[in-house]
Amino acid sequence: MDIRFESREVLKDKPQGALGFGKYYTDYMFIADYDKDQGGWHDARIVPFGPIEMDPASMVLHYAQETFEGLKAYRTKDGKIQLFRPEKNAQRFANSNARLSMPAVPEDLFIGAIEELVKVEKDWVPAKEGESLYIRPYMFASEAAVGVHPAVSYKFMIILSPVGAYYPEGMAPVKIWVEDEYVRAAPGGTGFTKCGGNYAGSLKAQEKAEEHGYTQVLWLDGVHRKYVEEVGSMNVMFLIDGEIWTAPTEGTVLPGVTRDSILQIVRSLGYPVHEEHLAVDDLMAAARDGRLQEAFGTGTAAVISPIGELCYKGEKAVINNFETGKLTQQLYDTLTGIQWGDVEDPYGWTRTVCEA
Ligand SMILES: *Cc1c(COP(=O)(O)O)cnc(C)c1O
Repeated sequence: MDIRFESREVLKDKPQGALGFGKYYTDYMFIADYDKDQGGWHDARIVPFGPIEMDPASMVLHYAQETFEGLKAYRTKDGKIQLFRPEKNAQRFANSNARLSMPAVPEDLFIGAIEELVKVEKDWVPAKEGESLYIRPYMFASEAAVGVHPAVSYKFMIILSPVGAYYPEGMAPVKIWVEDEYVRAAPGGTGFTKCGGNYAGSLKAQEKAEEHGYTQVLWLDGVHRKYVEEVGSMNVMFLIDGEIWTAPTEGTVLPGVTRDSILQIVRSLGYPVHEEHLAVDDLMAAARDGRLQEAFGTGTAAVISPIGELCYKGEKAVINNFETGKLTQQLYDTLTGIQWGDVEDPYGWTRTVCEA
């Protein structure tokens, strides 16, 4: 599909100082419209970043047909802008859209639009250690109707945000609250999709964790509140007796691109991997007798987030003396090395967009 480009005369100044996460947006954004009665996707365009007009009856505002993705563009030291496994995001976006009865965005439109927008905005890909350009593709029902049905019109959009290093002072373990009341997902629901609704329903537990002095929530399964699922917006892994444990992606857990990449790396390092249900009681027992060696979350934003403490029903378990574990650090260095082009990519995960 051809992408129309509307350039503008006055461009924004690039931010100076700390970028943070999601504080700044680039000069342009991508929009494509979908209308069932106009043959599907049409009118792909890159336009100046700014407010969009919406009908007050737009269905997304009432019934939450909305999905999104998250990935990054990296500036390499040898002068390239590259993406990390964007085809995995395209596939997951398609799976999310199918579950929410939304039309598919073909992979060539999804990746092509990202590449075109990143090329236009390549000067916005920051250059300091650990910095990157966060890419947020998303789609929502724009049909004006208040009757409940799958919408016939949608917008697919992409915005870009330069983001700072997640750990400007080195990796720091976080304290995690094991949530035993609220649940994020249930079998047959939308847990495996990246949809806004999953997040709206999760904020209550996040607030509760923060009230108790914890950074994020560790979700238990929605049926028994017994098995460990994931952490906030990250998948979660445990090193127990020299073996890696993580929840299987059977419908209630988000299939993270970082999760998949880390599992491939730990397997190549020779660690046995259990993609199995792990009972929180067994996890706490392992922590108690010192068999829980390391714990960490995985996700695009942080890459890896070491876990230093778990709190479950009032019992606190400190992991690895609240220090970043050796394997955790090694995995972080390996994966960020590949993403920023500092170490060789034996997996073919990176994709060059353009010369910087
Ligand atoms: C996005 C997300 C993840 C991590 O996925 P990545 O592809 O690794 O960024 C994990 N859990 C939830 C709930 C998410 O939304």
